[in-house]
Amino acid sequence: MLVVQKYGGTSVGTVERIGEVAKRCIATQAQGHQVVVIASAMAGETNRLLGLAKQIDDAPPPEMERELDVIAATGEQVSVGLLSLAIHKAGGRAQSFLGSQVRIITDSAFTRARIKSIDAASIHDALKAGKIAVVAGFQGTDEDGNITTLGRGGSDTSGVAIAAALKADVCEIYSDVDGVYTTDPNLCPNARKIERVSYEEMLELSSLGAKVLQIRSVEFAMKYGVKIHVRSSFNQNPGTWVVPEEAQMEDVLVAGVTAARDEAKVTLLGVPDQPGIAAQIFRPLSEANIVVDMIIQNVSDAGRTDMTFTVPRGDLRRAVELVRRSLPEMAEAGIKTDDHIAKVSVVGVGMRSHAGVALRMFELLAKEAINIQMISTSEIKISVVVDAKYAELAVRALHDGFGLGS
Ligand code: ADP
Ligand code: ASP
Ligand code: MG
Repeated sequence: MLVVQKYGGTSVGTVERIGEVAKRCIATQAQGHQVVVIASAMAGETNRLLGLAKQIDDAPPPEMERELDVIAATGEQVSVGLLSLAIHKAGGRAQSFLGSQVRIITDSAFTRARIKSIDAASIHDALKAGKIAVVAGFQGTDEDGNITTLGRGGSDTSGVAIAAALKADVCEIYSDVDGVYTTDPNLCPNARKIERVSYEEMLELSSLGAKVLQIRSVEFAMKYGVKIHVRSSFNQNPGTWVVPEEAQMEDVLVAGVTAARDEAKVTLLGVPDQPGIAAQIFRPLSEANIVVDMIIQNVSDAGRTDMTFTVPRGDLRRAVELVRRSLPEMAEAGIKTDDHIAKVSVVGVGMRSHAGVALRMFELLAKEAINIQMISTSEIKISVVVDAKYAELAVRALHDGFGLGS
């Protein structure tokens, strides 16, 4: 078999841990498999590097994002060098690869680049020579040779994309949790490990706050049919398989509960109620690559309407500036913002065939006296925006209320 193993920050957090990972890679190879390893930066390292940049400029302009990637990509370079050294020390053979050496080509969207192609020839050569290929996660290069990074948590995507390019039999994602849980186990100690979760559910869980897999890694897996096994490098326990949907998955009403705290809310009071106004507001946001999530519009009075929408918290300042510019007639008092919000969601393919999930969710929140500010739904998820201070309470109430706890 060809096995891709991606090790997250905690798995390579110390030189001792790197030594353990090296042994695990060698053991996998000794079972007769070809092994490709994707390594993240050592735990905390990416934050440290970006923190250094912040000390110089706490809000770098878009044209400086190229430099942020030059800085952040070094974390993974250190990891692959150390891991290759550790594999050698433990009696194995390894070769490290940076994104540019594999030739992981991305677009030029610095700090959030998308992979366009992977030329796996150099990895194949290393494997043929009996080596373990150790590839830096999180990074690539654009067509002009600039270093790019894939967004926070991007090593997951490196792992799955390389597994797809190599047609690997499995992509193992090693994290500090030993699988995908019914909710963040660090938040809810009675969360249960899910044995098998569908790509579609995992896509929603990831996009709604379960950072155990970066959303783009799940998109890749679904598109190319890569089987993901999320597990722990600290033991041999089976973890969670992310796979195509299976019939019995619909029997489960709610598969998981998530909370996302990285959004902010913008409310526009008394917007003219005319055709074209919504486009006028959201066009500049879209052109600035600001992803608008939930949108609510309410009729107020006399040809005016109130509108509320959410954006990533980091984009709030810029979003407000852009709205001001596109609606110069808006009074200053007419634009309100709130960055103390959280989006809490329940996800499950079972919702397709079962009614009443939304009602149950609202009842459970009401019982805790948690006010719902916004609601959005899709076929397999329901999300509500609540005051950030209630996020944990809401997650626990929903997790227990839907019977997910152990
Ligand atoms: P790594 O550094 O290995 O990539 P991450 O920190 O990116 O690890 O992701 C693992 C974390 O994801 C866990 O520590 C956990 O707090 C969080 N998490 C959130 N939701 C879930 C969930 N439903 N199941 C498992 N982990 C979750
Ligand atoms: N080191 C990067 C980060 O911290 C990528 C990753 O860990 O997946 O975001
Ligand atoms: Mg991660």
